[in-house]
Amino acid sequence: MSDDCLFCKIAAGDITAKIVHQDDSVVAFEDINPQAPHHVVIIPQEHIATVNDLQSEHAAMIGKLVATATSIAADRGFADQGYRLVMNCNAEGGQTVFHVHLHLLGGRSLTWPPG
Ligand code: AMP
Ligand code: ZN
Repeated sequence: MSDDCLFCKIAAGDITAKIVHQDDSVVAFEDINPQAPHHVVIIPQEHIATVNDLQSEHAAMIGKLVATATSIAADRGFADQGYRLVMNCNAEGGQTVFHVHLHLLGGRSLTWPPG
């Protein structure tokens, strides 16, 4: 838990979010500024600032982030149509909240390359 971290506060319930899933290792919630009909943010319970800080000990947790995303996509019925998983890192990657997170974007046809 980092005292000045927005996503730690969401995980702790100190800031309200539309929680989609929560367990011992991850929390998933609706993005407040959705970029697609389905836009869910999946975070580890553990505070880790950026993907640059990930170590081999975090492998299971990263797998859990992805498994949570694919499960939500399946539950919501857009897994077969397709979707995008994104992790932004630091300034040029477009990261604005410095707590590792996986974006799940689905429900529309997404363009490539991203902006
Ligand atoms: P990133 O730019 O990759 O760091 O993504 C941060 C994401 O968090 C953005 O898509 C924001 O819209 C989202 N976000 C910021 N504040 C909140 C909040 N209070 N509740 C839900 N999502 C948020
Ligand atoms: Zn945090």
